[in-house]
Amino acid sequence: MASRDWALGVRAPSAPEAVLREALEAKGQRYTGQRAAVYRLLLHSRSHPTADEVFTAVRREIPDISLATVYKSLEALVGCGLAVKLTYGDAAARYDGRTDPHPHARCKRCGAVVDMPVELAAQALDGLGDIRGFLVEGYRLELVGRCARCRAA
Ligand code: ZN
Ligand code: MN
Repeated sequence: MASRDWALGVRAPSAPEAVLREALEAKGQRYTGQRAAVYRLLLHSRSHPTADEVFTAVRREIPDISLATVYKSLEALVGCGLAVKLTYGDAAARYDGRTDPHPHARCKRCGAVVDMPVELAAQALDGLGDIRGFLVEGYRLELVGRCARCRAA
């Protein structure tokens, strides 16, 4: 990854179904309408939903979708590089449809995860290259604290 990539903004694809079909088929996976619905939800969500939250939301569009199908769809999206899985020890994993490198902030009280400006990491990481024999190619940065809503409560 070129160092300039730290600062790139990424827009949602204009034809998500075509992007999804190509990515799934490249991994030998099947395109389905259910997977497309899960992908569209992630692309339009800012909240880094859990599988349960994705299930609740997608059921409005596809009432007979199962939680197991939602889980498998999410894993298929992660497997073909169209979503990122954020794990938190014992707490439920969250899913991000934004796949460019960007920092997160997590609320210790309510568990909310929000995007932070890429500049936060770009300043620290730009031009790092090689440290103690380790070649830096990416990062995970998570700030921890209290979200605006919990601070007001
Ligand atoms: Zn909070
Ligand atoms: Mn994110």
